[in-house]
Amino acid sequence: MKFLRYELENREKNGILINGGVLEINHSLIEALKIFDIENLEKKKVYPLEEVKILPPVSPSKIICVGLNYRDHAMELNMDLPDEPILFLKPASSVIGHGYEIIYPPQSNQVDYEVELAVIISKKAKNVQTVDALDYVAGYSILNDVTARDLQQKDGQWTRSKSFDTFCPLGPWIENDLDYGNQKISLRVNDELKQNSNTKNMIFSVEELLSFISHIMTLQPGDVIATGTPPGVGSLSIGDVVDASIGGIGVLKNKITSNNMRSVL
Ligand code: MG
Repeated sequence: MKFLRYELENREKNGILINGGVLEINHSLIEALKIFDIENLEKKKVYPLEEVKILPPVSPSKIICVGLNYRDHAMELNMDLPDEPILFLKPASSVIGHGYEIIYPPQSNQVDYEVELAVIISKKAKNVQTVDALDYVAGYSILNDVTARDLQQKDGQWTRSKSFDTFCPLGPWIENDLDYGNQKISLRVNDELKQNSNTKNMIFSVEELLSFISHIMTLQPGDVIATGTPPGVGSLSIGDVVDASIGGIGVLKNKITSNNMRSVL
């Protein structure tokens, strides 16, 4: 099932995508994902998908990202495979949803896209063993790890380059029933294919990443693990439309803008 958060008539609601519409439910998304069975959910009305504004599917306390996690990307960069995952964080304030605008910051001259499979945490996780890791996964979504590449190289560490507001498009929804290890993962800029791989090329599995991270920091419900990007990373320009796709989940679409309309409003 595909779970989403959306806004309708100035109210935030939770729902399930059903026959091209949105079925309103009386549960938080994490609760609904735990209940799992649609028969046991308290259901309300169905709205056409076009009539709702899709919101980010979760409000994470943190987004934990993996630096290099695709074999084909390592080959492209002529880099050895890492022995351990390289981790960094994106702040919760960088998250936007499907259809929101990515704001090109004036401090950068090279803003890149990176399509990634996002793992959504279902319950508090600390020191989780690999064999138990999937018990802590609520579902999967799509994440675009937008990066100011020039600032990443200039700074020598990644906080500024990865953390601008709007640099973490996430969505459009959470799919809880997915064979995550064999899905097409791709990205298009203005309909031109730029990244095209399969999640089977991941170096560290979701189970290995979740276990590794949970031995460092406690994962909370709604936290997000971004599992790395495949080859073909490149730059975005103001006005571009970027579509990040993963099989079985859908398409996360965002436009690049120079205008921070929300600060004006
Ligand atoms: Mg990345």
